[in-house]
Amino acid sequence: MIYLDNNATTQASESVLSAVVKYMSKCFSNASATTAAFTGADVPRRNAASQMAKILNAEEPETFFFTSGATEANNWVFASIASTVRTGTILISSIEHPSVREPAERLARQGFNLQLVPVDSHGVVCLEALGRLLSPDVVLVSIMAANNETGVLQSIGEIGELVRDKAPTALFHTDATQAVGKIAIDLQKEWKEVDLLSFSAHKFNGPKGVGGLYCRPGIDLTPLLVGGGQEQGARSGTTNTPGLAGLAAAVDEIELTAFGEVRQKRDYLEQQLLKLAPILIHSVGVPRLPNTCCFSLPECSGDDLVTELAAQGVIVGSGSACSSGSQEPAQTLLAMGVDYQVALGSIRVSLGPKTSVEELDFFLDRLKENLMSS
Ligand code: PLP
Repeated sequence: MIYLDNNATTQASESVLSAVVKYMSKCFSNASATTAAFTGADVPRRNAASQMAKILNAEEPETFFFTSGATEANNWVFASIASTVRTGTILISSIEHPSVREPAERLARQGFNLQLVPVDSHGVVCLEALGRLLSPDVVLVSIMAANNETGVLQSIGEIGELVRDKAPTALFHTDATQAVGKIAIDLQKEWKEVDLLSFSAHKFNGPKGVGGLYCRPGIDLTPLLVGGGQEQGARSGTTNTPGLAGLAAAVDEIELTAFGEVRQKRDYLEQQLLKLAPILIHSVGVPRLPNTCCFSLPECSGDDLVTELAAQGVIVGSGSACSSGSQEPAQTLLAMGVDYQVALGSIRVSLGPKTSVEELDFFLDRLKENLMSS
């Protein structure tokens, strides 16, 4: 199988696997037991927090809370706002992942004033519009760091400063699920105005079902899950020691420098695509994740083509890649003003650090054959 869908999920390495297995077999004890210091069950959480603090340059490991992934972390942010302020304006971008969009819409139904910050035709958040929407009434701003479909990066540093300036009491959250492990992030420098940040291990070669929320010191989160009081009372549920051990091992293996080569291979892919057919590559010319290429084929169903390619052993994503069973085109493309039919013909190729040029050539050959036979 040739796997070119790394924005959907990634493969765990041998060391991630052995870390997970160790804490499911030999060191299987409960991390909250009073004996944890003797069994070693307290180690994975501590390591995961210090690894996350290192990779994001956060002040201290105590600022990380671990969850079942980014969906839970994103939902938590909105649930916490609803229980602390009860009213006010919430700003999200028009291209957020459903795990941000849907909790935000739920709060709108409960009486919050939800406003969508538009993006331009490349998928970049319009800072002018954001500036106009910001006011002291804003309680939460949530803007994703990197888009899952197009890979477009938002200027989180600049957005944070704008928020601080015009809505000083608002919380600034970023869903950094696609950014962590692919680009440099510094929570004490460029991203110093970020209050809350979501991440998910399976997007950077860690296990599925584990992720978390960075929470800047001094910010009080209302727990989403209550019960046994784990995570310093912030998130109940037995600590996922195998998952956290895997997350820590995956962070340890992140090599941002490898993405320079990934970018070169993505650019090669895009050059070759343009030779194949009148293909529209989305978001070229704006800052993008180095591994992501999102393109539309004329008069073609992206979903059908993705299925055809999968039958031939090549896994890529279509617009509906993140939402199970959905046949709808990528929301992101529609929000960018891309025509509905063009959006339906979209395909996302997302490379990993190990993707080879030979694999890309194999994909290009299969794509060419499919286009010629249709
Ligand atoms: N946010 C973004 C931008 C994503 O791409 C995804 C997953 O595709 C999520 C959130 C949800 O992450 P998880 O699978 O950890 O719930």
